[in-house]
Amino acid sequence: MDRIVIIGAGISGLTAAYFLKKPCEILEAESHAGGLCYSYYDNGFVFDYSGHFIHIKDMKIKKLVDKLTGGVNEVKRNASIYIKNNFVPYPFQANLYYLDEKTKKECVEGILKRKDVEISTIMSFIDWAETTFGKGITKYFMKPYNQKLWSYDLNKMTAEWVGLFVPKPNVESIIKSAYSENKKKYGYNSVFYYPKNKGSGALIDGLVKKIKINLNAKTEKIDIKNKTVLSSEEKLYKYNTIISTQPLPELIKQIQNVPEKVKAAASKLLSNSVRCINIGVKSKEGIPHPLKDIHWMYIPDKKFSFYRIGVYSNINKNNAPKNSYSFYVEYSSFNGKYKNTKNVVNDLKKIGFIRDSDKAAVISVVDIPYAYVIFDKNRQKALEVINLFLKENKIFSIGRYGAWRYSFIEEDMKNAMATAGLINRQ
Ligand SMILES: Cc1cc2nc3c(=O)[nH]c(=O)nc-3n(C[C@H](O)[C@H](O)[C@H](O)COP(=O)(O)OP(=O)(O)OC[C@H]3O[C@@H](n4cnc5c(N)ncnc54)[C@H](O)[C@@H]3O)c2cc1C
Repeated sequence: MDRIVIIGAGISGLTAAYFLKKPCEILEAESHAGGLCYSYYDNGFVFDYSGHFIHIKDMKIKKLVDKLTGGVNEVKRNASIYIKNNFVPYPFQANLYYLDEKTKKECVEGILKRKDVEISTIMSFIDWAETTFGKGITKYFMKPYNQKLWSYDLNKMTAEWVGLFVPKPNVESIIKSAYSENKKKYGYNSVFYYPKNKGSGALIDGLVKKIKINLNAKTEKIDIKNKTVLSSEEKLYKYNTIISTQPLPELIKQIQNVPEKVKAAASKLLSNSVRCINIGVKSKEGIPHPLKDIHWMYIPDKKFSFYRIGVYSNINKNNAPKNSYSFYVEYSSFNGKYKNTKNVVNDLKKIGFIRDSDKAAVISVVDIPYAYVIFDKNRQKALEVINLFLKENKIFSIGRYGAWRYSFIEEDMKNAMATAGLINRQ
């Protein structure tokens, strides 16, 4: 009989379990399911692990999401960039109209003077940005924002991740946007979905109703010869097939007697960490003007350590109690150390996102040790070596951190469904 062990009860592990037609054991290290899609309540506020919005292209997934969450709202993105004490609609490269004259001129000149070379995503991110958008747009947005987001040398990163995540209006549209307001919406997230109740965690609640999970069960050792998994509850699980959704470098560390070349490949995989600070504010006057109706805002300015903020209570008013508003503030780090996160409320007051008269009723910190996979020249080669080894040993490593990629909820659900389908057919 097939014995399947699923490691991790985030959206990937749970979706795989939901579609598997064979018995499986799910082991989850934490005391709750959800992974990064988890939501929690504090003082009447609903918080995600930084805003988790559902971007959907496939209508089959939309149907499933509706069923699991009990209904989602469709939200039209209202995002902007805080730059030189000014607010520019997102994406920067399609909204040059809102810049001061000097910055605008530099951006337009930059795009006209781009180097005439073939653009490729294995270029460094900076070369890619300069050849795609020119030096001005790179100087004012692409470089400073991405430096803060990735906390890694952008000259050592490739541009393999930009596909969906960096909107690419054509040159004419970019130049036109300097002289007239752009009405077109760019990017995969221009419309997104968000559960009517309980934040992104509603998706998890829908799945766990149907699935039994072993909580507080962190896998510690995987014996590929005897096909057993040892967990932190000191239980031994026998398996024929593993679906792992934990971070790939951690999976390789747990497997006993891994070939040296696989270990060496895993040591090349890099990622950053994110600290998300969730804040609930009591206010008689309502949300401060700069945040009115805003869903999220990019902060390339070095004066502030956070790279992005998002407003939960604008995405869904049910996320905050009456006379209050709520948001998340994100910081990134490459070595796990964060700068100035203790000053968060003062910094938010300085920028005008919290009024002096308002009261921060909740300040709650969520640390995400594996947040963004770093794309560099070693990643792809390392993955080829590791994936071959895992395939030979009937281990499917899926999800954002299992597959070691820059994915999002819909993509992870689809990947998990496909993996379950493959195992069902075996
Ligand atoms: C800052 C940030 C913002 C994001 N915003 C969005 C967004 O708005 N929209 C969107 O679609 N996507 C977003 N994403 C991406 C999204 O979070 C992921 O694509 C998705 O949640 C990944 O799910 P997963 O199940 O693959 O991994 P995870 O959510 O990481 O789940 C893995 C699970 O495995 C468990 N685990 C780990 N190790 C072990 C072990 N040894 N034993 C047992 N269990 C273990 C973990 O506790 C966890 O529950 C964002 C990601 C980040 C970092």
